[in-house]
Amino acid sequence: MIIFGTRGVKSTLQEGEFMCPQCATTKPYKLKKVTKFFTLYFIPLIPLERLGEYVECQSCKGTFVPRVLDYDPNKDKNEFQAHYEQAMRHSMVLIMLADGEIDAKEMEIVLKIINKFGHNNLTLEELENYVHQVQAKQEPVQTYLSKIGPSLNEHGKEIIVKCALSVAAADGNIGEKEIRMITEMAKIMEMPPSHLKGIFHELTKPEPEFSNN
Ligand SMILES: [Zn+2]
Repeated sequence: MIIFGTRGVKSTLQEGEFMCPQCATTKPYKLKKVTKFFTLYFIPLIPLERLGEYVECQSCKGTFVPRVLDYDPNKDKNEFQAHYEQAMRHSMVLIMLADGEIDAKEMEIVLKIINKFGHNNLTLEELENYVHQVQAKQEPVQTYLSKIGPSLNEHGKEIIVKCALSVAAADGNIGEKEIRMITEMAKIMEMPPSHLKGIFHELTKPEPEFSNN
């Protein structure tokens, strides 16, 4: 009997030092590649397809998408920060607009979040102008979020999701459209679904129940 099959084989493509988002400092990394191999008697013989590449921090063992290596803390700090502010501002306003209505309380919470977590210094008037811009431009939530989300560590992603939930809950209930958008945001940031589920669960203890409006 001939035993054959396929197997994912990991190999190291590159090693060096990088700014680990989880350790928040420079650490050694390995860039690894996973290749699907045709195996014969459990021995990988023929590479079939590349399944993907990832960066592994040799200190915390956290894994990241390869573009984390492009992040040079000195060179890119300002750029990343600018993207972060932009993504925070944009996604919070979109969440606020998701239910089709804006009330004063939502505006107040969005302003607080943008200024505190988005490291901004907006006035209410500037926020109102920005909301009109967002309404006119109709850019999807991934426009800015996809530039920073996947490079954030789990804590950073969690902050954004929790901020979005606070905005969604500002009018007293979290609607289905808001849940859908927050789920999409988590996906854009490559947050594991189990993590998102945990956040939702924590927020809606004991029984997750969302209204339909
Ligand atoms: Zn690390």
